[in-house]
Amino acid sequence: MPDISRRAASLGTENAFVVLAEVNALARQGKDIISFCIGQPDFPAPDNVQEAAIRAIKSGKHGYTPSAGIDELREAAAKYLSGMRGGLPIRAQDVVVGAGAKPFIAYAVLSSTDYGAGDEVIYPNPGFPIYESQILANGAKPVPIHLHEDKAFAFNVEDLEKLLNKKTRLLILNYPHNPTGGCLSKEDLIQVAEVLKRHPQVWVYADEIYSRLVFNGEFFSIAQLPGMYERTIISDGASKTWAMTGWRIGFTSNPALAPVFTRWITNTESCASQISQWAALEAITGPQGAAQAMKDSFLERRNLIVRLLNEVPGVKCQLPGGAFYVWPNVSEACRRIGAADSEEFRKRLLNEAGVAVLADIHFGSRVPGEGQHLRFSYAASKQQIEAGVQRMAEFIRKNTKKAA
Ligand code: PMP
Repeated sequence: MPDISRRAASLGTENAFVVLAEVNALARQGKDIISFCIGQPDFPAPDNVQEAAIRAIKSGKHGYTPSAGIDELREAAAKYLSGMRGGLPIRAQDVVVGAGAKPFIAYAVLSSTDYGAGDEVIYPNPGFPIYESQILANGAKPVPIHLHEDKAFAFNVEDLEKLLNKKTRLLILNYPHNPTGGCLSKEDLIQVAEVLKRHPQVWVYADEIYSRLVFNGEFFSIAQLPGMYERTIISDGASKTWAMTGWRIGFTSNPALAPVFTRWITNTESCASQISQWAALEAITGPQGAAQAMKDSFLERRNLIVRLLNEVPGVKCQLPGGAFYVWPNVSEACRRIGAADSEEFRKRLLNEAGVAVLADIHFGSRVPGEGQHLRFSYAASKQQIEAGVQRMAEFIRKNTKKAA
């Protein structure tokens, strides 16, 4: 059999999908598992969105579209992105619609770095694992910037200053953040923009897919700061805001890169599903009651899970500012049950207590000195949250006794 390329053989993945397969296999064996693994809203897409998709199919709107998306959606997404970001001058031609926001991570790396040129990309660690895998697969050098628990999971701007150099081509930011739920404040972003002034060759990829899930105050984008608009790739989409993960609609804007991203799409998926595009148009322009109700529900569940996790022996959990994730510190819980690290803890929690979560190592290498963390997606019912955290607490209590 011919060889697989080194690039493909070493391609990273999103471990949420790997753990999900493990969970499904256990569930098929009849094990009762409560899962906090998957990063998607636990709601159906709103009714008006479903109906728009059906209307599109029935009226024959299901062929190819231009690679950048249908004009109506580009126009609506431009207004929407601008409205959420202090009225930035985003035009329809600056917006490209893709099959989810995810493909734009690769397109941004591909469009800002050259293969084998030693070009560097800075990205948050912990972070969405696709950043690192796409940087590596496309021949650039991944440069992680560490996030810190005592900074509500922001990074130190001094660290950014040290990491930036002539080879840096792209800085990936993500706020609200997967996996910690952390946000970057306007003050943080002002400092980042100040540092970037000295490095005009650096693009910024602002992964703002959780922009509508900010719980304290208004969403603010780095693109709103002076000098940042032209160099920032704003990435948002329908997956999280309107519970449309499987519909695959993302939209990204940048005046210079829009034609470049369009060409990448012509070379890959041709276009996003036309049916989903009409549905996303309805999601953006139609009534926002369902999106608001989902956000309200996430806020309630965030408060519940953080309160409950902080009652678990050996667990400390911050109150995150956005998204639907919490990132509790379980260093003490690991010590109590004699688990070497968060990954061993995660496996035992799954197999012995029937609670599925992800471990910090699924989001990059562990940050030195920051301890052990797990990720819970709280896009689960209140009953599941209560029962899952109770199982975890019992598991720790039972095994602490054994270890003592
Ligand atoms: N960025 C981040 C930080 C995410 O968490 C996700 C989804 N888990 C995405 C991008 C991709 O979203 P989608 O492709 O569904 O739009």
